[in-house]
Amino acid sequence: MGECMELSEFDKLGRLDDWVSPNCSSCGIFLVCSGQCVVAVPTPSILTPTFDLELCRTQLEKEGFHVPVEDFEIPLRTALESPSIRRYLFFNSSLFHFIMAPIMYVVLWCAVYSSLHVYLDESIVNLWVLCLCVSFIVVIVTVAFILVFHCSNKEINVNTDVRLVKVNERLIGHDLLLGVADWIEKCTGKMQLCCIFWDLGPCLQTLTETLEKLDLVSDEIKNKLKKRMSHLTVVAEVPPSEPEDGESSEEADEGHPLLGRGRESHALPKKRQEVILTQTFNLLPDFTLSCQDIANDLLMIYSAVYVKLLVTERLPTSFHNLDLERNHCTTASLCLCQYVQYKLLQ
Ligand SMILES: [Zn+2]
Repeated sequence: MGECMELSEFDKLGRLDDWVSPNCSSCGIFLVCSGQCVVAVPTPSILTPTFDLELCRTQLEKEGFHVPVEDFEIPLRTALESPSIRRYLFFNSSLFHFIMAPIMYVVLWCAVYSSLHVYLDESIVNLWVLCLCVSFIVVIVTVAFILVFHCSNKEINVNTDVRLVKVNERLIGHDLLLGVADWIEKCTGKMQLCCIFWDLGPCLQTLTETLEKLDLVSDEIKNKLKKRMSHLTVVAEVPPSEPEDGESSEEADEGHPLLGRGRESHALPKKRQEVILTQTFNLLPDFTLSCQDIANDLLMIYSAVYVKLLVTERLPTSFHNLDLERNHCTTASLCLCQYVQYKLLQ
């Protein structure tokens, strides 16, 4: 299996030391294995989340990964640097949820107490009993909301993870995958842009073999994928179709904006450049493609959420019917292909 590679550039006393598995160390050679965090760049302020992309690329170069600007800064700026995405990153951050929990408790407590106080006679119900009952109800409701937010943060996020698909499609050519990790540590919000080393070959082969064993033509598998991926839609800006040129309109309607295979951009007439339409695309795989292409698309779609869960140690730990011996990541409970199988095919 080819999930490990020798990387003499790494300093054995550096950050990666924590991620080296016993198997790798036992080789006597410093190795970097799939799943090891190569670079993690924190955001200077969680209120306006931004990442120093030049610093991140410089650090990658120091670690031996030479990624050109067009494969790193340019797609990442498109994915993460619009004001609306920055606002979303803050309002969806663990820190914001952490701050909102006590505020929500107080507001709910006041609302429930004042509502019950109007209808209940103080001579019948003791004030302390009322306060205890209200507190009990509000604690249950608040914990339920916290659990919902906690669970939703472990799922793929269309506004962040899916936007990074195009970045990861380019980075995987350099054996890297990237994701935005966000967690609370010692009552402080942490948000980092994390790059991990990943050898996609073994995962692609395993997932392709798995898809080949499954009957992708059957309605059962199609319905399962449709059900589990129906929410993965993206809105993209596309040029308007040109009525007198049939071929151009076909191109505008072509499949996925993020997973465009062999798509080329053509210069548009000035009038058409001024008019841009928004169109919704679903990331459901094209079943007419080969199993390898479908496997590659699925791995790329789930790559950013996998990185996010891997570096924050939130990958699922209980699963059935997975061949755990074929885990291509020595640092986590699941590798990327197993995570895709867990989310989509089980
Ligand atoms: Zn794998």
